[in-house]
Amino acid sequence: MDVDDVRGDLAEVLLTEQQVREGIVRLARRIEADYDGDRPLLVGVLKGAVMVMADLARELRVHVDMDWMAVSSYGAGTRSSGVVRILKDLDTDLTGRHVLIVEDIVDSGLTLSWLLANLESRGAASVRVCALLRKPDAARIVVPVSYLGFDIPNEFVVGYGLDYAERYRNLKAVAVLAPHVYQ
Ligand code: 5GP
Repeated sequence: MDVDDVRGDLAEVLLTEQQVREGIVRLARRIEADYDGDRPLLVGVLKGAVMVMADLARELRVHVDMDWMAVSSYGAGTRSSGVVRILKDLDTDLTGRHVLIVEDIVDSGLTLSWLLANLESRGAASVRVCALLRKPDAARIVVPVSYLGFDIPNEFVVGYGLDYAERYRNLKAVAVLAPHVYQ
């Protein structure tokens, strides 16, 4: 889905399809260099990280393993509560593995902070975070993001995996949703 298909629902395009693509390539080059020889386990967080994971994994020129978790921070709407529930756990034993959590967005940081602690407790050799987007002004807890695509303003965004009420995930760009859509 292109911006023109839902133009009336969007207040502003933050990242075009091309900018997202360039961000993914930059992330991949840095990850390849850092993991040099250590085959990482990419852990994608459903559902938002599906697009990042699919494009990042294909851009990487090294072998990777991939696994998925689904977590839910309680509370509907546009805010995270920090109370996390595992809806789908990993199939992979993390003992001795170099884990790279692949996230769509770090907002309050509450979900990711919980996830980092949870995966670190499973005996991984290392756990790092790759996030396409981060909202620095929304941080309620500081989470180290080793590989960051873009810092963005503290506004509710959709596209490239990010939804509002399950819509807009298939939008190719990242855009600020117009308030009339969710008010
Ligand atoms: P956090 O715990 O960092 O506040 O956010 C956790 C999750 O909330 C993210 O992984 C994402 O699924 C969702 N989220 C946070 N900010 C946004 C946003 O601007 N747009 C959308 N669609 N989801 C968001």
